[in-house]
This record gives sequence, structure tokens and C-alpha cells, in this order.
Amino acid sequence: MGRFDGRVAIVSGAGQGIGAGIAARLASEGAAVGVLDLNADAASSSAEAITLAGGTAVGIGADVTSEEGVNAAVDQVVRELGGLDIVVNNAGITRDNMLFKMSVEDFDLVLAVHLRGTFLLTKAAQRHLVEQRYGRIVNLSSRSALGNRGQANYASAKAGVIAFTATAALELGPFGITVNAVAPGYIATDMTAATARRLGMDPEEHQKLAAEQIPVRRVGTPDDIAAVVAFFASEEAGYVSGQTLHVNGGQR
Ligand code: NAP
Repeated sequence: MGRFDGRVAIVSGAGQGIGAGIAARLASEGAAVGVLDLNADAASSSAEAITLAGGTAVGIGADVTSEEGVNAAVDQVVRELGGLDIVVNNAGITRDNMLFKMSVEDFDLVLAVHLRGTFLLTKAAQRHLVEQRYGRIVNLSSRSALGNRGQANYASAKAGVIAFTATAALELGPFGITVNAVAPGYIATDMTAATARRLGMDPEEHQKLAAEQIPVRRVGTPDDIAAVVAFFASEEAGYVSGQTLHVNGGQR
């Protein structure tokens, strides 16, 4: 018996990185998973890996900033997987720069993917969740929500995700729906590798340096985040809502 037997999940940005780890974890515990990603091929590969491991998944190419695309993705999940219970808003990008050099386009794009994307997918999904009086929504924030040099766009978006989480929890709680956020610290993915390269460093060297500043003396993995998302997504977490849990190896 898996914790998510009979449940259906949708995970955005699940073609790689943390999202792929979350999708695999939910599927390994019995959920049928809609693997949504901007890159349709990556979504399909991620879904195929789940299927090969004995799980159930469907890959969907969609842009979370498009209302039409998100609505169609949710409809496809409900139609092909038989419902919707768990929503993970994970899709994300970075366009780092000091604010005096940051273009308006890069500010708007990062806000759109993280914040508008989280709003659109939550809005599309809540129709189904409210009707069935059950749902679990988990949003990806970041340690950067506390402020991070070179990330005026990303930090603002991730702080917005925390406020969105708290508000959606208030509105959706009466319908049996919990809404929580996870705020990862340093997790080794393509996103952090890109940051390392931007700073002129080899990703492994960057991870080694970061690990020295982290109390548990290592950087995180997608599995570290997937374990916490799975808890928030579980039935037993039904009295936990509106929370943001920092998962960062003990950094203050
Ligand atoms: P990642 O490896 O870059 O993966 C992000 C995924 O989101 C990619 O597959 C990307 O697709 C997809 N995506 C981007 N824009 C999209 C859009 N408009 N619509 C649909 N999908 C889109 O990043 P990650 O490190 O796994 O990060 C996952 C989440 O965790 C993000 O929200 C990130 O901000 C958050 N987070 C990460 C860290 C970290 O240390 N890695 C720390 C704190 C928070 P493409 O590849 O096609 O662009």
C-alpha cells in the first residue's frame, strides 16, 4: 500500500531537477502523475522513466504562464488519469542580475513563471479540488525569498509565493484543501549549475564551497525536497496548512 494509491498529481516543471524528483517520489508511492514542463520532450522522458519504474504518468508540454495552456493541461490530467488531488507548483527560472542592470523583461518573466504560473495552475486545479472537497497544494518558494543579491526578480517572486500560499490556505481550507510551501536552500540541479557558471566556477567546486557554509555540510538533492513535498501532499498532513518549511540543511 502506497501513501498515494488512487491519487492523481500534477507537477509543473517536472521535466528535470527537483520537479522530476517530486514526480518520481509521488509515483513511487502510488500516485498517477501529470508531468508538466515547458519542454514537451523532457516531460515525456520524465513520464517514461516513471512508467518504466512501474508507475503511472503522462507527459504534458505546457507553459505555466499561459492560462489556456494550464487549463488544457489540467483538463488532460483529469481526463487521462481520472481526477486530480495533488498540485505541485514547481516550474521555475532564474534571470539573475544586479537590479541596476536587470531588464524589465527579465523582471517580468521571472515573476510570470513563478507567481502568475502558481496562480494559474492553482486556479485551474481548485475547481476540481473544491468540488471533491479534498486537495493538497504544495508550492516551491526559496531561501532567496529572504533577499538575495542579484535576484531582485526571483526573490520577489519567491516571497510572493509565500504570501500566495498563506492566502490560498485561508480560502481553500474550508473545502478540505491544504496549501503549503517548501523553501529549499542550495539544491544541486541545472539551476544551481547555471549560477556557478555565471560566477565563472565549476558546478562541483561551487557545491563544495556552498557545503562548507551549510550546517549539515552538504548541498541538497531533489530527493531531499521530494520527501518534504510528499509529506505535505499526504493525507496525514491534513492539519498542516498555510506553512512554509525551509529545507536547507540548517542554514539561518
Ligand atoms: P531546473 O532544473 O531549472 O528545473 C525547472 C524546470 O521548470 C525546467 O524543467 C524548466 O523547463 C521548467 N520550466 C521553466 N519555465 C517553465 C514554464 N514557463 N512552464 C513550464 N515549465 C517551466 O530548476 P530546479 O532547481 O529543479 O528548481 C525547481 C524549483 O525549485 C523552482 O521553482 C526553483 O525556483 C526552486 N528552487 C530551487 C533551488 C535550487 O537550489 N535548485 C533552491 C530554491 C528553490 P525548461 O528546462 O524547458 O526551461
